Amino acid sequence: MTTSVLELLRCPVCGAPGRAEQQGRVFACLGPRRHCFDFSRSGYLNLCPSGKAGSGDAREAVRARSAFLEAGYYRPLSDAVNGLLDELGAVRVLDAGCGEGYYTNRMAPGRVVLGADLSRPGIDHAAKTAKRTGSGAGFVIAGLFALPVRDAALDAVVSLFAPCAGQEFARVLRPGGYLILAGAGERHLLGLKRVLYDRPYLNPGREDLPRQLEPVRREQLLDTVTVRGSEQIAALFSMTPYYWRTSAADRARLDRLDELETEIQFDIFVYRKGH
Ligand SMILES: [Zn+2]
Repeated sequence: MTTSVLELLRCPVCGAPGRAEQQGRVFACLGPRRHCFDFSRSGYLNLCPSGKAGSGDAREAVRARSAFLEAGYYRPLSDAVNGLLDELGAVRVLDAGCGEGYYTNRMAPGRVVLGADLSRPGIDHAAKTAKRTGSGAGFVIAGLFALPVRDAALDAVVSLFAPCAGQEFARVLRPGGYLILAGAGERHLLGLKRVLYDRPYLNPGREDLPRQLEPVRREQLLDTVTVRGSEQIAALFSMTPYYWRTSAADRARLDRLDELETEIQFDIFVYRKGH
């Protein structure tokens, strides 16, 4: 992990800043207790209080989602987020709830980027990708509601399809820093739902928008994609909430397709922390 990324971090136990020690094998805090955390083989840090790591996505889900995302179907969202970061002049960025790191690794070149997630397989995949591509992003296993990040350390927090921890995001943002929040728009995956359901409904708006930060902008991104191959269609399906509540009979209609055309729609919200 680069020194610039390590400088964003704080000890999850005592809150002190830290640095790499023992030839870069550990992250050691500078508090009186000198808490130490080993870097994994793939280069991430587990900064989660014991017992909590691993409550995120399982390895199989991570593999399916990476295959889908790396095929580029959601690249318009990644490009839009990177464009916003450029426009807002954000250099030090946290991707909160980064999953397998697809968006994180794409936002890292030219910036100081940290990805945090509770899923060990997700973070492991993200760190391996960073190593292979040299993206420069650093990754930690951590919960979003108690981030191991120093106060006011960041120019921007990005939260994509992840829970919004408004109060914690406000703590880690510098005054004047931005939160970029994105999730499913009302027509997102309507083509998929037309296959599954006789009467597909529109997605509801999200109810966890932060109250601690000031809304400055809202954008919508609407596109149509053709997902090719039953494996990619199944991967997309496994990323949705419908995966858990669709009957086998309805699911069978999707399994018969080799090609699926669907709308993708993302709602992007930008918030700002006051001075
Ligand atoms: Zn400590």
